[in-house]
Amino acid sequence: MAPAPPQAPAPGTAPKPPEKRPDLLAPMRTLRFWVMLAILLVANIVISNLAFSAGQPPTVTISYNTFLDQVDAGNVVSITSTGEAITGTVKSPVKDSSGTSSTRFQTQRPTFANDDLETALRQHSVTMNAKDPNPPVPLWVTLLSSFGPALLFVLLFLYLSRRAASAGAGGILGSFGQSRARLYNPERPSVTFEDVAGIDEVKAELQEVVDFLREPQKYQRLGGTMPKGVLLVGPPGTGKTLLARAVAGEAKVPFFSIAASEFVEAIVGVGASRVRDLFAKARAAAPAIIFIDELDAIGRSRAAAVRIGGNDEQEQTLNQILTEMDGFDSREGVIVLAATNRPDVLDPALLRPGRFDRRVTVQPPDRRGRAAILRIHTRNVPLAPDVNLDDIASQTPGLVGADLRNLVNEAALGAARNGGAAVTMADFAEAIEKTLLGSERKLMLSELDRERIAYHESGHALLGLLVPGADPVKKVTIVPRGQALGVTLQSPVDDRFNYAEDYLRARMVGALGGRAAERLIYGVVTTGAENDLQQVTRIAHEMVVRWGMSPKVGPLNFADGEAGMFQQRPYGEATASLIDAEIRRIAEECQEEAEKLLAEHRPQLDALAHSLLKNDSLDEAEIIEVTGIKPGAREPAAPALRGTGPR
Ligand code: ADP
Ligand code: ZN
Ligand code: MG
Repeated sequence: MAPAPPQAPAPGTAPKPPEKRPDLLAPMRTLRFWVMLAILLVANIVISNLAFSAGQPPTVTISYNTFLDQVDAGNVVSITSTGEAITGTVKSPVKDSSGTSSTRFQTQRPTFANDDLETALRQHSVTMNAKDPNPPVPLWVTLLSSFGPALLFVLLFLYLSRRAASAGAGGILGSFGQSRARLYNPERPSVTFEDVAGIDEVKAELQEVVDFLREPQKYQRLGGTMPKGVLLVGPPGTGKTLLARAVAGEAKVPFFSIAASEFVEAIVGVGASRVRDLFAKARAAAPAIIFIDELDAIGRSRAAAVRIGGNDEQEQTLNQILTEMDGFDSREGVIVLAATNRPDVLDPALLRPGRFDRRVTVQPPDRRGRAAILRIHTRNVPLAPDVNLDDIASQTPGLVGADLRNLVNEAALGAARNGGAAVTMADFAEAIEKTLLGSERKLMLSELDRERIAYHESGHALLGLLVPGADPVKKVTIVPRGQALGVTLQSPVDDRFNYAEDYLRARMVGALGGRAAERLIYGVVTTGAENDLQQVTRIAHEMVVRWGMSPKVGPLNFADGEAGMFQQRPYGEATASLIDAEIRRIAEECQEEAEKLLAEHRPQLDALAHSLLKNDSLDEAEIIEVTGIKPGAREPAAPALRGTGPR
């Protein structure tokens, strides 16, 4: 329901190469396994029958009366008693109740029997044997029953730790503390700078690292020292991991990479020994690169960390990294690269000279960069002649490398679905829409709901046209997509790196337009504006505490010192309530403006909503045609000056 922000949707991160994990259950899935099992079972039954009843007639169960009769008849040869149970053999076969006859029988003497069985047996000279009714338990049975459960546990434990070890999560036995760093083949580095685009400044900076790794002697001859650690800083999906690998690929050196989060999940004490091992291996393979991905996972500032136990492991690991980095000389030819998207939370100790003292910022690509990245990712994609990658780049401000790769993939999948021989511009248009707006959703909505949504989105779109400085409205739709019931897509004329106050206000007025339209038409509001209100709250808040855009609060920035869970705000109660009041004032002013503008343009609002109900979606030209409003002379985007923009 919100006007889609010009920022990129959360970009994906690169999928990790799948771990090789032995599938222990795999043999159980094959047919051969089951056939073998069946054969073994049958063999077992046959053998046990042969072994225990070979040549022996079966035993029939007879009543005690029958037994006494047989004794009196002198037919019984011998008996063996075990307590009151009697087994024995007879001369001529006896029959049991089912009619089976045999010379072997068994019976049970009632405990109340008062007969003199012994005398009767003696008279007929029957051989009498007896067995201990409570025979001594064999030693192995005793042992098994007392140690068996314990043994089972031990076996289970061994099995699990084997699994853990082979799964690489730092097994309890075996690979205890061994680093899982993957060693890439130095002969055939898979990626090079050719595969990275749009961040040429960064490549130039890293080229020095590459040169050093290729010919360390050359640099040492002139007395220069290389930095030991280079920190790659940038938002997710901008290609930090890719760059690190490309450095190794360019320099043709082994690449030891590990994600810091892997240390964190390890058992206590393992993190530190893994670090030691990682550095030892890399130094043995020098020249080499060590790459620690997502450094913020362990490198968080120890002072700021909330200490509720469990932090010791992190601290030990971090200390070990610091120790190792101090313990070698960059002349050895090992360079540590690390990546993070949260440089602000890193422990200052990591950034001291001799550690990660060089910092390389990886920015989201600009329009030309996006075109170059698209070119890389379409290298192996057959493109129709109408495809213009520069056009696509200009339609996708805010998208980073990972998003663009997804975009190409979506377009290629769409083309394949449509049975095309090449990917066309239409496939790309669909992919862009899907990436920016989410995919369509089938939903049954009542006519009234659709009308409400149409008015809501028309409110956003109309204000996008009316408010000076707003981003142009590219598309408005009431087809449910992703989480939203309707979407108004506004995208900036060009990438923005700096926001003017009137632009921010235009964003807020536009965001409040959906709710204002609902209020104007129906007199009530719905839950549909939740996302819009979030945006408004965020922008108004930042304007006041971060960008000094409230005259009353003044040119101050409180953003870094806002109260965390256990931290003190760096300002007092008076300022706090002033900030709250100013945020409220700005939001309310924007709401008034939105309601006023829509009330003044009620006919255009109705026209837009009805057209939307009829057509589901309208593009930029159609919106202008329906409303008859030409987007006003818009101020050009504020001069883009990198580095001065919002963080
Ligand atoms: P990060 O580590 O910064 O989160 P990644 O390096 O994992 O980002 O990027 C994910 C994928 O996106 C890469 O494997 C690559 O395919 C693509 N990509 C990202 N940035 C670029 C770029 N500048 N040039 C080419 N491809 C890129
Ligand atoms: Zn909305
Ligand atoms: Mg990464």
